[in-house]
Amino acid sequence: MSGLIEEMFARQLEERKQRLQEAATRASDTRQIHDLLEDVDRALAKISAGNYGLCESCHEPIEPERLAFDPMTRYCVDHLSETEQHALERDIDLARQMQTRLLPARDLILPSWTSHFHYEPFGQVSGDYCDIITRDSSAESFYFVVGDVTGKGIAASLLMSQLHAMFRTLAGSGLSLCELMERINRLFCEASLTTHFATLVSGIAHKSGEIEISNAGHCLPLIIRQGKIDRLSTSGLPLGVTCDAQYRTETKELRSGDTLFLYTDGLTESATQSGELYGENRLLDLLKDASSVSPVKLAESCLADLTRFTGQGGRSDDLTLMVLRKE
Ligand SMILES: [Zn+2]
Repeated sequence: MSGLIEEMFARQLEERKQRLQEAATRASDTRQIHDLLEDVDRALAKISAGNYGLCESCHEPIEPERLAFDPMTRYCVDHLSETEQHALERDIDLARQMQTRLLPARDLILPSWTSHFHYEPFGQVSGDYCDIITRDSSAESFYFVVGDVTGKGIAASLLMSQLHAMFRTLAGSGLSLCELMERINRLFCEASLTTHFATLVSGIAHKSGEIEISNAGHCLPLIIRQGKIDRLSTSGLPLGVTCDAQYRTETKELRSGDTLFLYTDGLTESATQSGELYGENRLLDLLKDASSVSPVKLAESCLADLTRFTGQGGRSDDLTLMVLRKE
């Protein structure tokens, strides 16, 4: 573990210690607080001794995302007690249920657009963020977002839900799309670990067919128009890399029948058993042939093609597709 990350954990633990000590002065029964204080001291002593983050049973590194979730974790997943294993499984199941509720409704009515998304965690929970935000049914425009937090599992899914909360709070608050991205980047920098960042495309689609779109280091958005593909190449830094990153936007006019296709790299970086990637070129070929089909059909044919290509067990990441078609 790098010195910088160790320092960050030490800071978090010291803060926690202070809060616990304050709580102890107010609590009537302090036994539980004292137990927690002992746990914090044990973790701090390990940092001093240089063996922080190692499983106390096998001395192998503990999964980083579990440490991020609970800096006082003492054992790797393989060496949890049966009770702890069950508790972990219950937590993950709860996280999965909560995450499912963060997805946009399937039957959203959008002003002169049809939408479809496919959201598929690799494990129980996903680090992908997929959202469509409408202000009200009579609105002339709506927001769409597809993003991908680095890593997988619980830590990534927690950051995904932070992004969800940020976008849901700030979209429609009068900020321009650039300002929105810059504000969310700053909040994300402050809220997340230095080891985590997120790539993401966000945009506003208007009833007229005009879209404004901004890209933070994510797979390029694609516009499918009469058998031709337009790759929108304006892109900035991923969210969480630096607090003062600036973002640009790109504006496009979509006509009736044109489709915007967004995806996460769980699609293009899926591989065959011999390691050959699905890749953007294969995706572009598929989309060119499918320019007149509905969003549902387009997503289905894309997923079918992916399965044909990778065969069994080709997936290794969370996967999200979003298709928006101008009617
Ligand atoms: Zn272990």
